[in-house]
Amino acid sequence: MLIIGSGPAGYTAAVYGARALLAPVLLQGLQPGGQLTITTEVENWPGDTMVLGPDLMLRMEAQARHAGTEIITDIVTKVDLSRRPFRIETDSGQGWTADTLVIATGAQARWLGLPTETRYRGFGVSACATCDGFFFRGKVVAVVGGGNTAVEEAMFLTKFASRVHLIHRRGELRADKTNQARLMANPKVEMHWHSEVIDVHGSDMPLKVEAITLNDTRAAATRQLAVDGLFVAIGHVPATHLFAGQLTMDDEFYLITAPDSTATSIPGVFAAGDVKDKLYRQAVTAAGMGCMAALEAERFLAHG
Ligand SMILES: Cc1cc2nc3c(=O)[nH]c(=O)nc-3n(C[C@H](O)[C@H](O)[C@H](O)COP(=O)(O)OP(=O)(O)OC[C@H]3O[C@@H](n4cnc5c(N)ncnc54)[C@H](O)[C@@H]3O)c2cc1C
Repeated sequence: MLIIGSGPAGYTAAVYGARALLAPVLLQGLQPGGQLTITTEVENWPGDTMVLGPDLMLRMEAQARHAGTEIITDIVTKVDLSRRPFRIETDSGQGWTADTLVIATGAQARWLGLPTETRYRGFGVSACATCDGFFFRGKVVAVVGGGNTAVEEAMFLTKFASRVHLIHRRGELRADKTNQARLMANPKVEMHWHSEVIDVHGSDMPLKVEAITLNDTRAAATRQLAVDGLFVAIGHVPATHLFAGQLTMDDEFYLITAPDSTATSIPGVFAAGDVKDKLYRQAVTAAGMGCMAALEAERFLAHG
């Protein structure tokens, strides 16, 4: 059993795989611990009122090791799923074969690409309202984007924030009309059309966001908007390029799995977590799918 990825999905699959005596090998990739290593407080992981993301991931790694997983720090560069055993090549030049494969390579949020956005990430700049909205009770936030995700994030944030600014580069949203109507009807929401965020400002001690600079996309005019938080909702990119042409994906390159299952289009290959999920994108759902993948892999090895 080979697992690609060391986020909550990968480590959970490893714990279940090891406890089923499948002697799993887990390849960690470029970001050992996955997305939660770039955040601070996590308050929705069951069993922990508050845990720091990097600490939680170190604990998951230790648990996977303790259960008997071989953990390798290496990046998968090529996979051949055309026959079994599956063949995997890595950055270090090491080759692996696997009778069953769990893909848990996750996804990365798309960011605006501003240096100041990176500086305040986790300190007022976020790509996940479900994760971080709670920290903005009574505060003013801005959401960037124009699709359904941006509208849903903005709606969710109205539960906490006193004001939600939606910033969009164009003069109309791409989100479906029902979502748009609900958003526009909410008195907490203020639309900023033809606007793009070109800078984030804040304080150093403590590190926190205080304002953003908006550029008018039709005229060369800029202005500042005072906000406590900035939510970037311009999409996610699943890490699936390795599987292009081999596994079935949707039009946004997410892996497609069978209903109520982690089975991909190739028997023996399972996908768990954000690499196949654009709906929930949570640590606990990723972990749940990692468990499913390991149980399905075990059954696959037992019954072929
Ligand atoms: C800033 C931030 C804050 C968040 N806060 C929360 C929160 O409070 N609560 C919550 O539930 N969720 C939160 N999330 C979402 C949560 O982190 C993700 O839903 C979860 O990490 C997904 O887990 P995963 O295992 O699917 O993949 P990921 O965590 O994305 O991990 C993917 C793994 O795959 C590896 N990988 C990728 N490509 C390769 C390759 N070629 N070879 C080998 N390995 C590879 C990477 O190195 C990484 O280890 C947050 C996300 C972010 C970005």
